[in-house]
Amino acid sequence: MRKAFLSLVLIAALGPALRSAKAPAPVYVTLWFDTEDYLLPQDDDATKRLAEMLSRLGVPATFKIVGEKARVLERRRRSDVIAALKRHDIGYHSNTHSQQPTIAVYLQNAGWEDGRAEFKRREQPGVDDIKRIFGVTPIAYGQPGSAWAPQTYPALRDMGIKIYLDEADQVGLDDQPFYYGGMLNIFRMRSTLVRMALNGGSSLTEGQAAFDKVHAALTARGGGTVSIYYHPNEWVQSEFWDAVNFRRGANPPPGEWKPPRMRPAAETEQAFADFEQFVRFIKAKDGVRFVTATELGKLYADRALGRDFSRADLLTIARAVQKDFDFLKGDAYALSGADMFALLTDAAAAVVEARTFPAALRLTTVDGPAQPFVLSTGQLRSSAFSWDAFGSAVRDTAAFCRVHGRMPDEIWVGAENLSPVEYLATLGDVVEQFLTTGKVPVSVDRTSSRITTERYVAEDSPKLWGWIIFPEGFHAPRVMELARLQAWTLKPALLDR
Ligand SMILES: [Zn+2]
Repeated sequence: MRKAFLSLVLIAALGPALRSAKAPAPVYVTLWFDTEDYLLPQDDDATKRLAEMLSRLGVPATFKIVGEKARVLERRRRSDVIAALKRHDIGYHSNTHSQQPTIAVYLQNAGWEDGRAEFKRREQPGVDDIKRIFGVTPIAYGQPGSAWAPQTYPALRDMGIKIYLDEADQVGLDDQPFYYGGMLNIFRMRSTLVRMALNGGSSLTEGQAAFDKVHAALTARGGGTVSIYYHPNEWVQSEFWDAVNFRRGANPPPGEWKPPRMRPAAETEQAFADFEQFVRFIKAKDGVRFVTATELGKLYADRALGRDFSRADLLTIARAVQKDFDFLKGDAYALSGADMFALLTDAAAAVVEARTFPAALRLTTVDGPAQPFVLSTGQLRSSAFSWDAFGSAVRDTAAFCRVHGRMPDEIWVGAENLSPVEYLATLGDVVEQFLTTGKVPVSVDRTSSRITTERYVAEDSPKLWGWIIFPEGFHAPRVMELARLQAWTLKPALLDR
């Protein structure tokens, strides 16, 4: 009896420890390198050495490569560097990086569609060169410096690039991966971003302590992702290759490009030694796994896609959009405001057509509006619409989404326009009535609510655009206005467990 009692006490005491020893919260570490210096040949060697070191350690990384860097490797006949890189994930880091005008500068006055086309016109050649030289479509993209812009997202999707992998402050969600612009983003990771300094001395111990702190925080949250980034040139240069040449809007011709100052060889060796120890330290942690961008795409796959939405799901969505909302987060999937807009519109369009919900309702993702809402002129401002008028607007909206792949800026009910959120709240009321009574209302009441995802988008200010390559005082209010409109597409990325 006494013995049995003791065993029970032991099991009770050890239970949680045994369980956590069995399955620690998964912490994924994504290590990425902006591979960009096309001036110094020493950067080619540093790149190769890093890629080979990581292969030897069994650590897959993502190398985001500048188009011009890829061409330079080809011209210098560095097939050895290319081969070493090909053992990792290949990403894209713009065509010419810091040559003026940089991406946010040339998109500062652009709209949605023209900005998308312009980014594609300028960047497609770099993607094509990466494909030709590395034999793969880059899996991820990240902007040079903080030269971010929302129009890049649809253009990147057009070019077959699936993941946004970088770090800056324009948009983010709880310092973890999220969906925005129809892509998985590992961006604005802030508290879950770790960088060990490459300065020798206490760099390694401080880097290890910084990793442990983030690891503990993510474990307490039940797991998550750590982002770690470097540039191969950091191992060999004491100043950045582009700051030397393109600082504050400078744009010298190639003949006048100056090489950056080099680090002493001993410093470079120490930085490589410390980095190897840092990577080994992380790899040895229980429950920690290094993952590439490709693996993140699978771990954080959008499980709202391919799902059959039931009437119960639709009712939840219809109710959610009648109050202030940002996104809908369940255990299995998450929906952005744009997702809910598309689902309710498609469901209601089917009701208009056939008086019944579609048997299997699937999500077709759409981008946010392209312009802020402007109320139509004239005296009309109805508090209710006939079902015929509203149902016709629903069908029209479904057609618009199919044709343009985005939400409309305004929804016309006869000669009156509704803002997208006003339309969605009104539609939520209609769908709820249909689902609970089996009938569409004779008269549709104008309903209002608010989408609050703009709070995840930064305010425009010169500080947000602090990259040394931008002209002094540069800022981009139009870019951030479009960023807020695209916040319709924001939602958390849920880890597949
Ligand atoms: Zn860069």
